[in-house]
Order: sequence, then C-alpha cells, then structure tokens
Amino acid sequence: MDNKGKLVVISGFSGAGKGTLMKALMEQHGQDYALSVSATTRDPRPGEQNGVSYFFVTKEKFEEMIAADEFVEYARYVNNYYGTPKAYVEDQMNLGKNVILEIEMQGALKIKEKFPDAILLFVTAPDANTLHMRLAGRGTEAPDVIAARLSRAYEESEGIENYDYLVVNDTVDKAVTLLDELIRDERSGNTEHNRSHRVSANIEFINKMREELKSFSKGE
Ligand code: 5GP
Repeated sequence: MDNKGKLVVISGFSGAGKGTLMKALMEQHGQDYALSVSATTRDPRPGEQNGVSYFFVTKEKFEEMIAADEFVEYARYVNNYYGTPKAYVEDQMNLGKNVILEIEMQGALKIKEKFPDAILLFVTAPDANTLHMRLAGRGTEAPDVIAARLSRAYEESEGIENYDYLVVNDTVDKAVTLLDELIRDERSGNTEHNRSHRVSANIEFINKMREELKSFSKGE
C-alpha cells in the first residue's frame, strides 16, 4: 500500500449532518485521518472554537491569505469566504493520514482538478424534508439564511454527478462505517464491492432529492 494518505473531499447539503459525521469518524478512526481546519469569514456559532471548528478571520485577513497563496482552494458560500490552508494538507498526507476536507462544491471541483486521485464523497439526508428540519432544528441560523442554504442545496444538487460516492446519512453509525470503508477501500484499490454506493448507481435518488429541493427553494 502507498504510504501516502488519500485526499478525501466530503461535501453535502447544509443540514446533512457532515459535522456530526466528521466528529464520529475522528472519534472512532482518528488514528487514520486528519481533518483539515478551514479559514472562514463567517461568525462562530455557539460552541465553535477558533482553530478547532475553523480559523475565524476577517475579510481583510482572508484576502491577504489569498494574495499570499496560502490556500489549496477557497470559495464564497452564502456571503462568506471559506478556504483550505495548504501546509497542513501536504504534511498530513506525507505522514500517511487520509486528509479530510469538509468543503462545498466549488472547492471540491478545484481539488479534483489539482489532485485527480482525490476521492469525492457527497453526504445527504434521506430526503429534503429531513434536511429542512435538521437545519431549522439546529436553531443557529436565521430564517433567511436557512432559505439561502436550501436554495444553495438545490443549486448544488445539480453538481452531485461530479462526485464519486453518495453517502445517505440516515443513522450516524451506519454512515460513518460506510465513509470509513469507502475511503479504506479506495486507498487499497479494493473498490469493486462498493459499486452500489457510486453516484452513478444512485441517479434516481438524486433526481428525487433535486425535485424536492426545487419545491423548497421556491418556498412551496
Ligand atoms: P458552515 O458555515 O455550515 O460551517 O459551512 C458552509 C459550507 O462551507 C459547507 O458546505 C462547508 O462544507 C463549506 N466549507 C467549509 N470550509 C471550506 C473550505 O475551506 N473551502 C470550501 N470551498 N468550502 C468550505
């Protein structure tokens, strides 16, 4: 097995539970993974610590970091900047860790261009209604931000075909086990039995989700 770790991109609709999954993945399999901490210009949510959830920076600082070429990729998402600092990613892969980038779709596509061997995973809730309930239930975003995030989810649903695998987050335990298996198997080249999880095998599910999100983003 190649000693260098895999670069793994995890994207998913806002409210799909990526944060919870990443926490569980690190708790259960932390020895194999390094979770990249992004920089962002958005405000911290209650409980989010600087340097743990994100590096919270001003717009000016973020723009300085762009100018100094400190990001592997960065993107704008619902009025804020988000970016992946370069140094950590390279270092951790060289140490043999699979490096996880929990990033949105524009960033994911930039990573795929720069690192064709990266694995792209897309996490979704089982249906759009669940997504809406999780977003609203979190109680951390104002209604207009929730609406903007659902509308962005509809836009992002158009790009899922660029990802390798779809992970439906029904229960956290099952989804974490699947994530870990998919990444391990990609690293060892033993991917045949994971075909049913490939995005290309789940087009019907994705189309249904897209239709549901479309009605949500129209406020229906
Ligand atoms: P949130 O505000 O909910 O923490 O994140 C909003 C979106 O930004 C999520 O889809 C998250 O995956 C994405 N994101 C977080 N960090 C980065 C990053 O470094 N680069 C990019 N492109 N997206 C990011």
